[in-house]
Amino acid sequence: MIPVSEPLTNTPAWQQQLANAFHTARDLLAYLELEALWRPELEQAARDFPVKVTRHFADLMRKRDPNDPLLRQVLPHLSECEAKAGYETDPTGDRAAEVGDGILCKYHGRALVVTTPSCAIHCRYCFRRHYGYPDNGTGELRWRAVADRLRQLPDISEVILSGGDPLALNNSRLASLVNKITTVPHVERLRIHSRLPVVLPERLEDNLVSLLSNNRLACVLVLHVNHPAELSTSLFRALGPLRKAGITLLNQAVLLQGVNDSLETQIELNKKLFEFGILPYYLHILDKVSGAARFEIGEKNIKQLYQEMAACLPGYLLPRLVKERPGAAAKEPVG
Ligand SMILES: *Cc1c(COP(=O)(O)O)cnc(C)c1O
Ligand code: SF4
Repeated sequence: MIPVSEPLTNTPAWQQQLANAFHTARDLLAYLELEALWRPELEQAARDFPVKVTRHFADLMRKRDPNDPLLRQVLPHLSECEAKAGYETDPTGDRAAEVGDGILCKYHGRALVVTTPSCAIHCRYCFRRHYGYPDNGTGELRWRAVADRLRQLPDISEVILSGGDPLALNNSRLASLVNKITTVPHVERLRIHSRLPVVLPERLEDNLVSLLSNNRLACVLVLHVNHPAELSTSLFRALGPLRKAGITLLNQAVLLQGVNDSLETQIELNKKLFEFGILPYYLHILDKVSGAARFEIGEKNIKQLYQEMAACLPGYLLPRLVKERPGAAAKEPVG
């Protein structure tokens, strides 16, 4: 009999999937049967912010469609190398809000922890695409330093885990961070901002729900879905245990030219989010980060679109249209 060999590692399936992501425009375009679109300049445009796209996300794109709204979010563009007036490397003022150990104090009563620079996907419009992530590490020592600093900030009642993507951390690192946060008495709520479930639904199956629900903190998961095609059946299934555990699910989207700037798309997105048990929370106006100018929409068009959305959607399915202003203590409503 042939002996059954033990797997060499017990790496969770989602981490193996992550290792199989597309890392060049050439591979991604070949997979989508769009070889003709490839040019060497695309790899040059992605030099400082490399291509990264999971197979799952690529499988939600239409093959042979150069205008696919999911592809548009992740395919580099020659314009990324050109400077454009008004576009900066730190459009949201993250640098100025750093208080140490990867903690940003930007919003009243809330502390934002930049957990890891890692993401499962690289979105070309990302406002942190040029952020010089401090090298703080993701081990016990760092989390202890984070908790010690939170202890000295008595006004903070909510901790927001951000990144990169906090769910790019494995469960043991994440559990260790959450445990440390629970030792800070004035923290009541834990919020996680993540796009990982959308681009790699398997991430949610790895006992994550018990990690998030077996502690004294109220937990909120804010997903990042921009287009209804990102709401897959595997995501719906993977969210089941979180819905059952009573974890609040919200969505933030970014309004992007050529991706989700039509009324039909917005209506479909927000209705479908509700079917998935996710409430639309924010619709962000693009942060003017260098390299993202092709996603900008004129203010007049934004306001008109939003008025039409407000006229068509029930109030609870209308996300708040907001803009981030560096130095402001909260997001600013638009319109
Ligand atoms: C706006 C924002 C927050 C804070 O959100 P509020 O819901 O306004 O408290 C946290 N993280 C990111 C990335 C944001 O854009
Ligand atoms: S932080 Fe969010 S928007 Fe930026 S690249 Fe990562 S997943 Fe995309």
